Amino acid sequence: MTIAPPAAIADLEDLIAALPAEAHAAATRLYQISTTTGRLDPPEEMTAWIERLFGSVAAVREQRIVRVTDLVTLEGALFNELRARRPMEVRDTTEVRRTIEEAQGDPFCRPETGTPADTFGRVRGERSVTAANIAKYDGYHGVIVFDEHDPLAPVDEDALRDHLATGRRWAAQALEADPGARYWFLMWNCLWRAGGSIVHAHMQMTTTRGMHYPKVEALRRAANAYAERSGHDYFEDVWSVHRALGLGIEAGRTRAFASIVPVKEREVWVIGRPGEDEAVLAPGIARVLAAYRALGVVAFNMAVYVPPLAPDGEDWRRFPPIARVVDRGDPANKTSDIGAMELYAASVIASDPFRVADALGR
Ligand SMILES: [Zn+2]
Repeated sequence: MTIAPPAAIADLEDLIAALPAEAHAAATRLYQISTTTGRLDPPEEMTAWIERLFGSVAAVREQRIVRVTDLVTLEGALFNELRARRPMEVRDTTEVRRTIEEAQGDPFCRPETGTPADTFGRVRGERSVTAANIAKYDGYHGVIVFDEHDPLAPVDEDALRDHLATGRRWAAQALEADPGARYWFLMWNCLWRAGGSIVHAHMQMTTTRGMHYPKVEALRRAANAYAERSGHDYFEDVWSVHRALGLGIEAGRTRAFASIVPVKEREVWVIGRPGEDEAVLAPGIARVLAAYRALGVVAFNMAVYVPPLAPDGEDWRRFPPIARVVDRGDPANKTSDIGAMELYAASVIASDPFRVADALGR
């Protein structure tokens, strides 16, 4: 008996072709997938260096590249087999941990005097208190300042549920203060590598007017247009394809999956059902954070998408609560993970979603 090698993103076309009929049909509706081979011819002098980095010259001479485009949202990713097969670099977090330790006593350690309050006051959670951001992204821009300083301290399901509830209570107060700002956006920039300017553990949130932020509104419109032309639900289809590929897990009432069209490394989506609020996402997000710890991820972003706080006359009936979580790489690395490809073309991905799913515990 032979043991099949573990599924790999380089074989995505074959894996999709082998899916059961229903999941295969959904994959065909949702994605365009193509595989190409990049070739090069290295000089002798590079052999030792190539072998050290990539294992063999043959591995770099021909490299498979899988390109995935989501036909509904027109987001895309390029996976290079060679990059994906490299062993995960062991991140030395000594320097990061020292920086975190040195930041002890920062303004977020004493939020009452170190941070401004919103005009409606502060919202207190069991493990946090809110503050107003000093330089605002939008009319209301708050911070959920965790009691715990260390941004690398584990955040479990209960803590997440508390932070999400604190954010929701803040949003309700902001809505009362400005009933026109119906759209709430919750985010988490963990460490400077992920855009966090304060080391102390915290999330942020805004409310905005007119329409939801363009990326959220674009997703709503794309999903509704897809339902109209295909008769299928976008989020159900995305889940069915990822589950059939072995990329998804269920946690509580949520579904979490390592995306085949990630915005950047190791992106995991956590989705509930339409009509539910973000509280249901806590068990799923907790699983993602646990997987990230196991994978050595320290800098990450999270975004939570939910329908407006009050009806806006648009159709949000198909829109579930969604959390997107993405690894931003090694804080010690001076090379940015985002370049012109990511900003202007498609995301170039070095990690294999199937290995992320392994860590999620599928
Ligand atoms: Zn602190």
